[in-house]
Amino acid sequence: MEVEICRMCGGDGRIGNALGGSSATCPSCHGSGRRAEASYGFRDVTKTKPSHHRPAVAISTGPKGPTTAEGTQLAAEVSASAVLTADAKARLLAEIVNHESTHGRCTKTFVKKVRKQARLGK
Ligand SMILES: [Zn+2]
Repeated sequence: MEVEICRMCGGDGRIGNALGGSSATCPSCHGSGRRAEASYGFRDVTKTKPSHHRPAVAISTGPKGPTTAEGTQLAAEVSASAVLTADAKARLLAEIVNHESTHGRCTKTFVKKVRKQARLGK
């Protein structure tokens, strides 16, 4: 690899004083004899890669389950129901989750309605 030689001193790292015979350390290369630009130029700053694509934690929008205390309780009652079919339970559970998502909680009338179905079937 070719090293660029300091142009000011010619590569010996020293420059002669114009007035006398004494030489001083080259102010350009600080005595190394190499061009300062060559030693630490061309740093590639464009190489910064975009950080790994890390998608934000996906928020599932699908029905998962009730999030409120009333909803959880209601879901438990529905699941424990002896009169409801598996289909009816699934439908009611979905209804609870849906109700929660639209109302933010389970309203009393909704709880009543679901409880009634859980106890009596239709
Ligand atoms: Zn020099």
